[in-house]
Amino acid sequence: MAEIQYRLEQKRNIVGEFPGPKSKELTERRNAVVAAGVASGVPVYAADLDGGIIVDVDGNSFIDLAAGIAVTGVGGSAPAVVEGIKEQADYFTHSCFMVTPYEGYVRVAELLNELTPGGHEKRTVLFNSGAEAVENAVKVARLATGRDAVVAFDHAYHGRTNLTMGLTSKSMPYKANFGPFAPEIYRVPMSYPFREENPDITGAEAAQRAITAIEKQIGSDSVGAILLEPIQGEGGFIVPAEGFMPALAAWAREKGIVFIADEVQSGFCRTGAWFASEHESVVPDIVATAKGIAGGMPLSAVTGRAELMDAVHAGGLGGTYGGNPVACAAAIGAIQTMKDYDLPARARRIETQVMDRLRPLAEQTEIIGDLRGRGAMLAIELVKPGGKEPNPEATKAIAAQCQAEGVIILTCGTYGNVVRLLPPLVIGDELLGDGLDVLEAAIRAQA
Ligand SMILES: *Cc1c(COP(=O)(O)O)cnc(C)c1O
Repeated sequence: MAEIQYRLEQKRNIVGEFPGPKSKELTERRNAVVAAGVASGVPVYAADLDGGIIVDVDGNSFIDLAAGIAVTGVGGSAPAVVEGIKEQADYFTHSCFMVTPYEGYVRVAELLNELTPGGHEKRTVLFNSGAEAVENAVKVARLATGRDAVVAFDHAYHGRTNLTMGLTSKSMPYKANFGPFAPEIYRVPMSYPFREENPDITGAEAAQRAITAIEKQIGSDSVGAILLEPIQGEGGFIVPAEGFMPALAAWAREKGIVFIADEVQSGFCRTGAWFASEHESVVPDIVATAKGIAGGMPLSAVTGRAELMDAVHAGGLGGTYGGNPVACAAAIGAIQTMKDYDLPARARRIETQVMDRLRPLAEQTEIIGDLRGRGAMLAIELVKPGGKEPNPEATKAIAAQCQAEGVIILTCGTYGNVVRLLPPLVIGDELLGDGLDVLEAAIRAQA
């Protein structure tokens, strides 16, 4: 296996105040011109990214435990991605695949058909964002089945366009006052082991609970698609109980319902497998991907069974920028990087390192309610001592302390009480260890 080479020194280093003077100045300029609705989690401005390090405009080096929300798994300036971009940009930056097609798009489709779960005949179509991929997966499923209803789950996150807001569960900040939303979306209970009323409920029983809700609310004959994140992202890195996803997928197949896996966040080696569906050997009918696909360039994809995808009439799918040639070149470089460095194995190693550190901490501190996740998609759910009441205050304070000390972490969850770890998969053990030292101290300070 190739050894990872870094351009920047992989070391945390906060040189002055946080945020520094240049970042403060940029915040002032920003506040005068950028819409207030776009919020940033960290008050510093990025200047350079490599491996597990983000350098800001004041020369501070942060440990990156966010990867731009699970996007830069290969790092923020992976050599194969950067070279691919430069080489493609020298020739052309756009021709529109719907006008004058090009090889890069075809190559990305070949790679996705090969890498996504299942050995069946597949077809792929490319877009720009995760939301766009999810919308198009739903379009394909509705057309192919002739059925309108789409089933989504509690705590789901699928994006910010009108259809995907409707599919998303959480109101604030994603949906509140942005409606009305598209019709024929139905929400059913998720399997959320930590917050089940009956802690002994199995994955199969939780699936049956969802199936009963579908049958009662809609009737299986009217359902075109079931849409599930194999591990939920924004909703709190919720890993459903074992057996939940396979039981749903099997029932969907039996009823002629298209099973769509939203692997936008969980895909591309993040969870220790190429796709999270693989952990339970589920073969989705359609897989939506984005985030980690292209080392940071905007690209997304819908990959599905050939008979579903090819049911759509010519011209029914597409978009001006979908599968942009520079983004495709980046994806080819990113996927090559994942193979060269065996990033699924790196993700599993990150899981071991993080869990070995956090498990004893969870036993010693009362505010850690649950530790969960797979690979390098790991979460700490924080509670008030002595129970399961969500503790968003401690969560915010932990994130803020980590940031001020040079570790960038994100929070998530329906109750805003989950610290989520999404390091670039190329982060070194030593740097990650230093990041965990800071995180551990920040958790202890709240306990
Ligand atoms: C981020 C995300 C989306 C939306 O992707 P965008 O590129 O932000 O539109 C959809 N589904 C999941 C699971 C996500 O994590």
